Amino acid sequence: SAAPLGHTVIPIVNKLQDIFAQLGSQSTIELPQVAVVGSQSSGKSSVLESLVGRDFLPRGNDICTRRPLVLQLLQTKRKPDGSEEEYGEFLHLPGRKFFDFSEIRREIQAETDREAGGNKGLSDKQIRLKIFSPNVLDITLVDLPGITKVPVGDQPSDIEARIRTMIMSYIKQPSCLILAVTPANSDLANSDALQIAGNADPDGYRTIGIITKLDIMDRGTDARNLLLGKVIPLRLGYIGVVNRSQEDIMLNRSVKDAIVAEEKFFRSRPVYNAVADRCGVPQLAKKLNQILVQHIKAILPGLKSRISNALVSVAKEHASLGEITESKAGQGALLLNILSKYSEAFSSMVEGKNEEMSTF
Ligand code: GDP
Ligand code: MG
Repeated sequence: SAAPLGHTVIPIVNKLQDIFAQLGSQSTIELPQVAVVGSQSSGKSSVLESLVGRDFLPRGNDICTRRPLVLQLLQTKRKPDGSEEEYGEFLHLPGRKFFDFSEIRREIQAETDREAGGNKGLSDKQIRLKIFSPNVLDITLVDLPGITKVPVGDQPSDIEARIRTMIMSYIKQPSCLILAVTPANSDLANSDALQIAGNADPDGYRTIGIITKLDIMDRGTDARNLLLGKVIPLRLGYIGVVNRSQEDIMLNRSVKDAIVAEEKFFRSRPVYNAVADRCGVPQLAKKLNQILVQHIKAILPGLKSRISNALVSVAKEHASLGEITESKAGQGALLLNILSKYSEAFSSMVEGKNEEMSTF
């Protein structure tokens, strides 16, 4: 289906969420936030859109993202007839469902202007958007303004410092996964993305390097060495992508078409054959999924002990009240059992992979 983000992890995470909901426990699984950082027009919004599989973010070769956009993806159940309903809802427009995603884009633009003015001004006041869909993981993505150096329009003279502070306030959080976006047609050693990600996450435990615009590199060059980490190593490695060009956007080419075109791009260039696992948005989604599995695995023991404690207190209650709570205790024990099985399943899933992935 449309959204690459969430194929492998969704069922298992959902099952766990169901278990916790039945237990009435607040021990739900919190997946980390994922934020994109990089210079202006490096392709940050484009990468997020490809991950979600829908067109809804303002993009362009000028400053488009001028307020942080906190995008909460929420998984909904498919309707009984199998059809799917996807819609967005803004915090500032409660109760209004946007089924038309181009309307979502227009509302982001309008709401950006309301707070930050129409003349390239920025604001650190968030726009919060929820996307409800059966095709997504419950995860929060954050689209951030890009780093710029020279003030334009209504921007203050210290625009660069302000943007950096805004970005840091998101990515310094230890649970934030950073997608550090650098276009392939610029020098990696000059990357604002890697520089700011390096400040927030010096050991690189939660930074994935994204190289965009592989399609418009200087003729005779390719991104192989970048993707292999031979230029600047990164613990979690790099993924190269081809997003839509401005022309594609003007021609209304869809995200789905773009993913097909990207696949064709990599397939037709032998130089990328040996690094195919580092090429394309589906590989990025896969990598994110693996990291999320690691994360879940890391938090499972804590969740288990919380549930055990809950069980102990239910058992005590049971002892004092007689059999009324018996079924509840039985249910809890059953769930704990299921959970243990899941954590074993997770362990084997993860150990089956020999990629160097960290938990965070
Ligand atoms: P942001 O400012 O970092 O959010 O960048 P955008 O996602 O808005 O993209 C900036 C411009 O670069 C847009 O015109 C995109 O169409 C274009 N763009 C982004 N990624 C690619 C890519 O991989 N290839 C090409 N040819 N253009 C891209
Ligand atoms: Mg943007």
